[in-house]
Amino acid sequence: MNLGMPRIGPGRELKHSVEGYWEGRVTAAHLIETARQHRADGWQTQTAAGIESVPNNDFSLYDHVLDTCCMVGAVPDRFGSGEPADQLDTYFALARGAQMPTGTLRPLEMTKWFDTNYHYLVPELGPETQFRLGSTKPIDEHAEARRLGIETRPVLVGPVSFLLLAKPTATGFSLLDLLPRLLPVYQQVLAQLSELGCEWVQLDEPLLVTDLSANERAAFVDAYSTLASSQRPRCLLATYFGQLGDNLELAAGLPVDGLHVDLVRGPEQLDPLLDRLPAGTVLSAGVVDGRNVWRNDLRHSLALLGPAQQRLGDRLWVGPSCSLQHVPHDLDLETDLDPRLRSRLAFARQKLDELVAIARGLTRGSDAIREALATSDKVAADRAGSGKTTARAVSAPSASRRAASPHQRRQAQRQTTPLPSLPTTTIGSFPQTTEIRRARQQHASGHLSDEDYGRFCEAEIERVIRAQESIGLDVLVHGEPERNDMVQYFAERLDGFAATRHGWVQSYGTRYVRPPILYGDVTRGGPMTIRWMVYAQSLTTSPVKGMLTGPVTILEWSFVRDDQPRADTCRQIAWAIRVEVADLESAGIRIIQVDEPALREGMPLRRQDRDGYLDWATECFRLATAGVSDGTQVHTHMCYAEFGDIIDAIIALDADVISIEAARSGMGVLTQLSKSNHLADVGPGVWDIHSPTVPSAEEMATLIEQALDALPVDRVWVNPDCGLKTRRWEEVLPALTNMVAAARSVRERLVADVIPEGDLHF
Ligand SMILES: [Zn+2]
Repeated sequence: MNLGMPRIGPGRELKHSVEGYWEGRVTAAHLIETARQHRADGWQTQTAAGIESVPNNDFSLYDHVLDTCCMVGAVPDRFGSGEPADQLDTYFALARGAQMPTGTLRPLEMTKWFDTNYHYLVPELGPETQFRLGSTKPIDEHAEARRLGIETRPVLVGPVSFLLLAKPTATGFSLLDLLPRLLPVYQQVLAQLSELGCEWVQLDEPLLVTDLSANERAAFVDAYSTLASSQRPRCLLATYFGQLGDNLELAAGLPVDGLHVDLVRGPEQLDPLLDRLPAGTVLSAGVVDGRNVWRNDLRHSLALLGPAQQRLGDRLWVGPSCSLQHVPHDLDLETDLDPRLRSRLAFARQKLDELVAIARGLTRGSDAIREALATSDKVAADRAGSGKTTARAVSAPSASRRAASPHQRRQAQRQTTPLPSLPTTTIGSFPQTTEIRRARQQHASGHLSDEDYGRFCEAEIERVIRAQESIGLDVLVHGEPERNDMVQYFAERLDGFAATRHGWVQSYGTRYVRPPILYGDVTRGGPMTIRWMVYAQSLTTSPVKGMLTGPVTILEWSFVRDDQPRADTCRQIAWAIRVEVADLESAGIRIIQVDEPALREGMPLRRQDRDGYLDWATECFRLATAGVSDGTQVHTHMCYAEFGDIIDAIIALDADVISIEAARSGMGVLTQLSKSNHLADVGPGVWDIHSPTVPSAEEMATLIEQALDALPVDRVWVNPDCGLKTRRWEEVLPALTNMVAAARSVRERLVADVIPEGDLHF
């Protein structure tokens, strides 16, 4: 069985038609036809591979949680009635917002889908929410597959997870209060599927692998008892992204016909489940990794599932750990990869063959899959024998601590890099213009020589430096014209990483990413950023800040080897970054920013695992940065609205300056930081760069004054709340000019306040 296929198409067909529709180049009919063709290809591919239970409704034009909102009619009032005539436009307006005669229509918020790099749209639910059957997508697509002669299993987000993944529109509102109103819509969908003769339906409840309150557990019992009491197909309850843990008894006791569990992340739950699963219930064993790109060790899977097969017989299903939407489509497209590495990989298409091989091996014996098993054994031996950790992966407490206190360092840094109070800077990137992207593409395709591309980047750097000088910023950046992506750029330059050509996975909507594959020991072969930084600094007497991506973010945004602990792999990356930091310092760069935007998203789903993660994650950041002298200033940047649960980790980074998103959250994070024993400087973002409006100097001065309510003046920096690569120069120039004016006006006000009138001798 399979839990879901990649939705984007092997050649990113979905992106092209959806974006074409938004731009008016593609008609609605054409978009719908592309989607239909894509679904048909997916079902046929799976059937041809020998998958017996094929999922349906795993496809989405944008996001499956948004699809669920539409199915249950949970569309906020501001989007109107969503009459059939404009359903497609309402759908995309929910996802992306829209320009209306009355103003801008705000889309649903977006957030991370558990601990993946996929983002879902957050349902907005409150006391006013009424549910109704708003879309029959799962029913229609079930019928669509049947017309092709394929019986499919519709996949729905389960009702409890749907509610708990939502955002309450009123403070204090309990989302679970909506369960009695929501369940009738699910009953309606299930009844209609049942009438069509649909045999199995899958309800996804990934919340079952997280910490649940007593209320939340009770909601699962209520919901599934109610659904069991009315007409419906047989129900497979699917959990993934972790083990059930203390929810195992709860999940095994729910009145469903099958239970899917993630045996990649939680193999130890298999035995207790075999003991507790009611007679007649199907166990769907997720043994093929849906979150990573490594080939399955078939012999290992057969050994793991052998005893289950003996006890359950045909009540044992073999599946991927989760939907395959989190891995690239087809390895066959990767013709440039090193053959030895390639032999170790499996993308979605190859994972289907693995599922079939495991099921066949279990039911017919290993002789039935002799060839597949031989290949798998060979790869397993090759991986085991390929030089384990030879690079330094060890934890080194002395290397991950700066000797001097934050206070001593501040004194030393004032000598090395004297700055005015409320120093102004930016987060690092400047607009990635069409010309920059074009030059990069020409360089990648060989149409622009290394020398010419180098000269092009230098010209861009000079433009960015001159612009910052004329605006009057205090700490400059080189603008990052040479970076294609903050992780890919480094992965392409570090040993131990490989890049794919077509390995796209959906991040959200039509935004896809191509995560690098970290397959071996990570070391720095040579300098990665030094050339550009030295060039930028040679152009100006103002300090230029060096820009690097941190080890945790490089780890989180890559497909990572699974033959050693993630912490060890992260330490290797940290050592490699540390060498680059040392080279920057020797080259005269005395302010170095190391960004860790993924620190928070790497957090384990279970509270009990979080401290362990944060310990090694912050240690890795320090390992990368703590080798510098006292006078070299380490910056980092964070851009998430919720800081509460990682405030201690931010402090544990031991950076000298932290720039943070604060423009939207109204400086609230500063209060949290000032209440803690945090001693570093803070640069609260005073310009929300995600908003298209250019803020005035007065607005930004007000935000600086708010920051000064929480922190002493000698610890506050002035900066935008994120990098500027997505903005246009026409916005960047006036906004930064206003920002510098705001900092200056507050400085003048402070001087006037401190020195009594009459004593001024200017
Ligand atoms: Zn940011």
